[in-house]
Amino acid sequence: MDLQSVKKQLEFELAQVEHELGHLMEQDPARSDLRDIDNEMEDDSLESEEGFRIQSLNIELSKRKATIQKVLVKIEQNTYGLCDKCGNQINPSRLKAIPISLYCVNCQALVDQNSDLMASVS
Ligand SMILES: [Zn+2]
Repeated sequence: MDLQSVKKQLEFELAQVEHELGHLMEQDPARSDLRDIDNEMEDDSLESEEGFRIQSLNIELSKRKATIQKVLVKIEQNTYGLCDKCGNQINPSRLKAIPISLYCVNCQALVDQNSDLMASVS
């Protein structure tokens, strides 16, 4: 596994995610109070739907950014490819498919289960 090329790829992805996040900030209706002065007839429900879409995209991108940053730290610390939970080696084919894997398959299943639980509670 060529760590340098993984790192390059991740840094590229990180830049892209940050770029998209920057765009989202500009689009977010909640952040631009002055925007609607000349189109008050606009359908409010449409607008909040758009706001919701931007918000959930924002959350997705922020999560992705945090994950990429974590993985970059792991590369720096020479722990890339080791599960963040149990410390076992992550399956190389899994890493190849998803270079930003933080967990082995077993721990990932647990993490996903937990986040599903959290989602259903909220
Ligand atoms: Zn694990």
